[in-house]
Amino acid sequence: MIESIRILGVRVDNITMDEALAWVGAMVTTGTPHQIATVNPEFIIRAGRDAAFAAVLQGADLAIPDGQGLLWAARWLKRPLRERVAGSDMVTLLARESARQGYRIFLLGAAPGVADTAAERLRERYPGVNIVGTHPGSPRPEDDAQACELIRRARPHILLVAYGAPAQDLWIARNQPLLCVPVAIGVGGSLDFIAGVQKRAPAWMRRNGLEWLYRLIRQPSRWRRMLALPLFVWRVLTVRNHRGGAK
Ligand code: UDP
Repeated sequence: MIESIRILGVRVDNITMDEALAWVGAMVTTGTPHQIATVNPEFIIRAGRDAAFAAVLQGADLAIPDGQGLLWAARWLKRPLRERVAGSDMVTLLARESARQGYRIFLLGAAPGVADTAAERLRERYPGVNIVGTHPGSPRPEDDAQACELIRRARPHILLVAYGAPAQDLWIARNQPLLCVPVAIGVGGSLDFIAGVQKRAPAWMRRNGLEWLYRLIRQPSRWRRMLALPLFVWRVLTVRNHRGGAK
């Protein structure tokens, strides 16, 4: 049984990376469909004004604490989370597990060519990794059928969907029940990082909760969506003052 907490009404599971990897392994053997959401402060702010996205997060089988901001908020709300489980780290660790255990992985999304390059990089890094298909597709519902057909034929155990939130999470919720892929995960810009199209923040910035700053400097066009961060901080600070706990 996984313990969870709520941050501004959104469920976040108090799980470690090792536990999350073990959970994926267990779900792969069940063969029934499961969805993982990689929750960060932007997700939480978005869910507050997007009921469909909030419902998808609520319905996810695992909501991992991606984003240092969640750890800070959880500490402030006196329900600390044990560790950050970054979706991007999880993708590379799943590739490693795939090489060890034979998990079949399908990469959906990112700009044309990016998933192929990411697959090449993962094959160099983890010889034997079992990537059974890639497809850029699009998050538009009219493109679902084509993507689903390709995925069904490839029969992956793990489907990584890189359309950014909330599109990727809505895509999974919409299509996963019919696909019967045991584990589907929305992975945001992870394939861009692996392919080298975007650089990930250096380790010291990640450790100090500054990944958002690095992304803002490298991709200034993100400023508008990143206004979610100060709003998140403000809401967390005031929810505790007003209501005295993790609501
Ligand atoms: N993307 C896509 N199709 C779209 C919109 C986005 O393939 O219509 C991809 C984009 O190329 C990138 C990923 O989705 O690889 C989202 O990256 P972003 O950095 O926005 O996601 P975040 O990590 O912030 O959720």
